[in-house]
Amino acid sequence: MSSYTCSCGKILESPLKSTLILDKEISALINSGDIFNVPCSDCDRILKVEEKTDFFSPSKDYHLLFIPENSRTSFFLGKIAIDPSVDRLVIGYKELKEKLLMRENGLDDQILEILKLSYMSRHKKNINLYFKEIQNEKLYFYVEGLKLEEIGLTAISMDLYLQKLQEKLIYLKDDDILSFISPPYVNASQIDVEDEELN
Ligand SMILES: [Zn+2]
Repeated sequence: MSSYTCSCGKILESPLKSTLILDKEISALINSGDIFNVPCSDCDRILKVEEKTDFFSPSKDYHLLFIPENSRTSFFLGKIAIDPSVDRLVIGYKELKEKLLMRENGLDDQILEILKLSYMSRHKKNINLYFKEIQNEKLYFYVEGLKLEEIGLTAISMDLYLQKLQEKLIYLKDDDILSFISPPYVNASQIDVEDEELN
């Protein structure tokens, strides 16, 4: 079990559970950013931490594995064992929130990552996109890294998404695309667009 030291000096045993069901309560805590809060019992501080967690849909047909941002390198070095039952892997809180939002909106995350990569490669910069919401027949994404310390917003039309969705079988035969949409880690950010020549 993990323990944390509050800045007041109190040592806190983690109250976080390693397995959680994605019910309404847990989904709300993920959305609000409070899912990994560890409150101090001696002062009024709340520690924001990240711990490896297995999330399951209420019917258990979806297994989402969360690993902390500071495990990213270990994961890419193959040092983290991923159980074959894992449907999706997310690294760090922002990816967790995004993946859940995609799912709640009934969107195909593989298609969204393809759309994200085409935006990233047009800008030839290591930017990051995070799905935000659907509004007025458009899919909105936060854009990080275009300008220092600024978060931008970009929108993709629902029509384009639906068109790509129809073409999905073609993408599933493309090795370049499979390199970032193959489960469990479905995320365009693992492609270095500064080095890639994508068409
Ligand atoms: Zn404290």
